Amino acid sequence: MESQQQYPQQFSFEFFPPKTPEGTEKLIKVRDTLGELKPKYFSVTFGAGGSTQQGTFDTVSSIQEAGFNAAPHLSCVGSTKENIREILKIYMDQGINRIVTLRGDMPSGTQEIGEFRFANELVEFIRAETNDHFHIEVAAYPEFHPQATSAEDDLNNFKRKMEAGANSAITQYFFNPDAYFRFVDDCEDLGITAPIVPGIMPITNYIQLARFSDMCGAEIPRWIRKRLESYGDDKDSIKAFGEEVISEMCHQLLEAGAPGLHFYTMNVTAPTLAIWKNLAL
Ligand code: FAD
Repeated sequence: MESQQQYPQQFSFEFFPPKTPEGTEKLIKVRDTLGELKPKYFSVTFGAGGSTQQGTFDTVSSIQEAGFNAAPHLSCVGSTKENIREILKIYMDQGINRIVTLRGDMPSGTQEIGEFRFANELVEFIRAETNDHFHIEVAAYPEFHPQATSAEDDLNNFKRKMEAGANSAITQYFFNPDAYFRFVDDCEDLGITAPIVPGIMPITNYIQLARFSDMCGAEIPRWIRKRLESYGDDKDSIKAFGEEVISEMCHQLLEAGAPGLHFYTMNVTAPTLAIWKNLAL
């Protein structure tokens, strides 16, 4: 973890673009409440193949106009160089200087790969087109990407993204801090010393979490799973247990020198605020 201890700890919050006017109204309140915690930036997801493109643009603009820093996610699968060039220009004109750069997953049934195959190619393209304008974040997988051919290949592919010009990384969420510590140590052995910020998923709904974790390859340890299962529909117990477990994990990560935390807020304040309060940040 030595490489990570040199960085000041920074905090960021992730949103997805709301789909309804009510969702948009609600997100403004969420943004303003979390904005009081003075995050480094709010990031906004981007549906692969451009499926949420306008929503991402609108959410990013509203964050910037409110005086906060927005970091749009940009996924490349299904895109052409010309699409990406246009999007980069829009963001540069808006004064955005941080991008979370991803491959993305095409919605099932869609086959067009486009002109980029992997995130490292998008990082390289952004650097070639815009030099050092953007701080480029990429995704990291302490428990390895679900399509990785092996742990070693996945680490080498992560290295490719960093070497292509990424400045730092945000991890997929995890509930095993040892996976993160080990990942960072393995990165150090490969010469990667850039910040690798843990992505934090608050626990609020077991069924949803289990489904999503299966898809993205995040392991829910048996002792957490069994307890969550035993609470059934008792939302208060799930919430209380989730807050305690995630707060303890965040505390452990920060104590060990993690360079901050990136919260997957799911566009709500309460779970993130509760963890924040427990950490006395
Ligand atoms: P890559 O880094 O390209 O890796 C994908 C797979 O290919 C891995 O298995 C890797 O080992 C392998 N690989 C990589 N490079 C090569 C290469 N050169 N040759 C051979 N194999 C290679 N998805 C969205 O659609 N929108 C979002 O906004 C979004 N935000 C995210 C934010 C974070 C912090 C994280 C962790 C994930 C996010 N995702 C998002 C999900 C992400 O798009 C998926 O996990 C996707 O499957 C992989 O994206 P990547 O950028 O990690 O891909």
